[in-house]
This record gives sequence, structure tokens and C-alpha cells, in this order.
Amino acid sequence: MNHPVYDVVQLASLGKMFDDALATRFRVLPLWDDPHAMEHLAAASAAKVVVTSVRRGLSRDIISRLPALRAVCSWGVGYETLDVAATQERNIVVSNTPEVLDDCVADLAWALLLTAARRTNIGDRYVKTGQWQTIGAFPLSTRVWGKRLGILGMGRIGMAIAQRGKGFNMDVRYNNRRERPDTPYTFEPVLQKLAEWADFLVIACPGGPQTHHIVNAAVIRALGPKGILVNIARGSVVEQEAMVSALQEGLLGGAGLDVLENEPTVPALFMHMDQIALMPHVGSATHETRQDMSQLVLDNVESFLTTGRLRTPINERLA
Ligand code: NAP
Repeated sequence: MNHPVYDVVQLASLGKMFDDALATRFRVLPLWDDPHAMEHLAAASAAKVVVTSVRRGLSRDIISRLPALRAVCSWGVGYETLDVAATQERNIVVSNTPEVLDDCVADLAWALLLTAARRTNIGDRYVKTGQWQTIGAFPLSTRVWGKRLGILGMGRIGMAIAQRGKGFNMDVRYNNRRERPDTPYTFEPVLQKLAEWADFLVIACPGGPQTHHIVNAAVIRALGPKGILVNIARGSVVEQEAMVSALQEGLLGGAGLDVLENEPTVPALFMHMDQIALMPHVGSATHETRQDMSQLVLDNVESFLTTGRLRTPINERLA
């Protein structure tokens, strides 16, 4: 049987506008939500590009079924769900969507920090349920401005979070594997020491095996009973059970979490813990930023298929 020749295999839908634009410009085999996707891959033996997302990922198995694959264009900045080793073995280049989402993710980190410290989520409920009238004055909360802000992962998003900290007159320090001489902030090479020093610890490093549970019981306890932990990175970075125990025992002051271990499962315990402010993994989820991310995926596909080069390749940074 003769198959049409496809340029692109699309594993994830990135919204109707993106899907239509991609299908207008290229010969696309769309495979999202298709229970027989693996069978259809045989029809894409000439496809040079896979479009996917950090949520959908890309397995070694799929890569091995696409003999002409040369580039992967992924939506999102994390790439822990892509089998990067399998792409490197075949010199397949990979792009993600960095920078366009930094400011929105940083805004959300700050929303969670402010919520956890000033308890705006609880105050909202207090007013709406009439407790302001029946009980009276709302309990005191924690000052934010002028405090010590620790950032785990001073990358693109970490820098945007730090910049906002300056607006709150904060002293900012950070932990990376390597010091960044291009920043005005103080480097702290030991994460536990950063947590001991900080009033607020914001996590903005990548997920994956290298950072699994690096925010462990010792780091959480170092942050202390008045400390607040904010995570906009990945749930896997935090030892969730240790965090919950510390919150219950009053050894950690509060937490603001956009990401959880085993999303979207939420431990039942969380529903009754006012010390935790939650958001459903929406760091980049504004109309404007999601549009910019989709456009960048489209630009990467177009650039690769017309010039052989990606706009925002990650490969060179992986070594
Ligand atoms: P980036 O620019 O690559 O920055 C990551 C930073 O983490 C780098 O400064 C890196 O410095 C540091 N780092 C890496 N491994 C580390 C380790 N083991 N210990 C300490 N620091 C480490 O990435 P980005 O664009 O800022 O994005 C960061 C992460 O945010 C993404 O990987 C993703 O997981 C998450 N994210 C979440 C959302 C959301 O919706 N909540 C949206 C976008 C991104 P060194 O290499 O020197 O260690």
C-alpha cells in the first residue's frame, strides 16, 4: 500500500490554532489520543520531525520506529519526559520552548509565595463564608518584603523570580551546581545552608533523576518553622512525605505548590491543610504565554525543515 509522505509526526495537540497552522504548512500525521498510534507510525517512515510536549514526552520505542527522524520539537521547557539519550545516539536534535514562559512562571511563584505568607486564600474564604462578621479580625500572617529569598536553580526562571525579589527589597541567594558570575546574587554551594539562611525557598531547577528529592527532610527542617517552601519546578524535587510531616509537626511554616509528585493525584491530607497553597501546574498557563510557546514550536519546525537548524536547540546544553 502507498502511504502519503509525511514531514511531521505530531504526538500532542497544541491547540486548534497551532494544529491547523502546522497542518497547513506541512504534511502532518496527527497521532494524539489515537489508541492505534504505534501502528500508524509505520506510515511515517519519511518523517523528519516529531512534535510533542513535555507532558506527552517521547519514548525510545517511538524514536526507533521513525528511521528518518532528525529533529524533535517539544512544547514546554522541561525535557525529563523525552528520551534524550536515545535522540543523542542518533544525532537527533531537540528543541524546547525556553524564555517565552520565564516571566509568567516567576509571577506564579510570587503569587504562591504571597499566598502562603499572607494567607490570601484563607482570607478570601474567611470573607466569603461570613467569618469576618461572625468571628472578627483575621489572624496575623508573615511579612514578605525585606526578607531572605533563597532560590534553588538560578536559571532563566530563577533569574526572573530573583528580579521580582529585588522589588520587594529582598536579599537573594541561590544554589546551582555551578556559580553564575553573571548575576549580582550570592552563590551558596550547599543547599541545606541556603535553606538555613532563607525565609523563603523557591524551587526553580529541572526535574528528573538528578534532582529527585534533593529538597529532603534535612533541607525542609533547615528552612524551619517560619520558613515557606515554594515549588514551581517539578514535584519530584521535593520529598513530599517529609514536607507534609514537617508542616503537620510545625517544623515548616508553609508551602506554595504549583507541582506535585504523581500529578494530578493530590494526597487527601492536603485538602485539610491550610498551610499548603496549591495550583494545578499552571506556571506558564496564560493565554499570551501559551500562544508564544506554540508559536515557538511552529518556528522550530519551520526553521528545521527549511534550514536544517532549530531556533532553540537544547542539545548543546546537555553535555
Ligand atoms: P534553566 O534555565 O535550565 O535553569 C535551571 C537551573 O537549575 C540552572 O541554573 C541550573 O544550574 C540549576 N540546576 C540544575 N540542576 C541542579 C541541581 N542538581 N542542583 C542545583 N541546581 C541545579 O531552566 P528554566 O528554563 O529556568 O526552567 C527550570 C525548570 O522549571 C524546568 O526544568 C521545569 O521543570 C520548570 N518549569 C515549570 C513550569 C510550571 O508550569 N510550573 C513551567 C516551566 C518550567 P547548574 O546547571 O549550574 O546546576
